Amino acid sequence: MLAPPVQRLVTELGRLPGIGNRTAQRLAFHILRATPQDANALADAIREVKERIGLCEVCFNLAEGPRCTICSDERRDTTLICVVEEPGDVIPVERTHEYRGLYHVLGGALSPIDGVEPDDLKIAQLYTRVEGADPRVSEVVLATNPTTTGEATALHLADGLRMRAPELTVTRLASGLPVGGDLEYADEVTLGRALAGRRAV
Ligand SMILES: [Zn+2]
Repeated sequence: MLAPPVQRLVTELGRLPGIGNRTAQRLAFHILRATPQDANALADAIREVKERIGLCEVCFNLAEGPRCTICSDERRDTTLICVVEEPGDVIPVERTHEYRGLYHVLGGALSPIDGVEPDDLKIAQLYTRVEGADPRVSEVVLATNPTTTGEATALHLADGLRMRAPELTVTRLASGLPVGGDLEYADEVTLGRALAGRRAV
């Protein structure tokens, strides 16, 4: 029914998370109605992030260049590392203004059923970071999502960290976060409280 280029746009938009076929069609028609400048600005923005944004060599957050803005900021407390699943999880923690340390982005959560094993995540890199840090890391906050896979990942990391750095304090966000939810969707008051009330595991 649709001309092939339009169908292609609908198909590509429909592959985005949370976008069903009808929404994809609506977005495609919106883009068709837009001025060439507006439509090209969208295309250019997509191309530009893919060309210029990579992963920070220290924490694996998104970065333009070798290091992200947080790792490059000398005012951050380097003795604290907050471990999150995805780069998108850094933003809600930052929004709480409760946290001034660094991050470590795992790139997902352990899920043997889906074939996600420790080697698929930046877990070894976390251990290397903690072991080689100068000044030494005093606390690692496990801020993986309050889901089954997030909890399993936190337990795995707590064990691994305790084995490698017995003097390190390992904490988990306090309860109060909606169970099964994503950090990404937590409001900053709830997340701020969960951070402030974090406890040793
Ligand atoms: Zn970084």
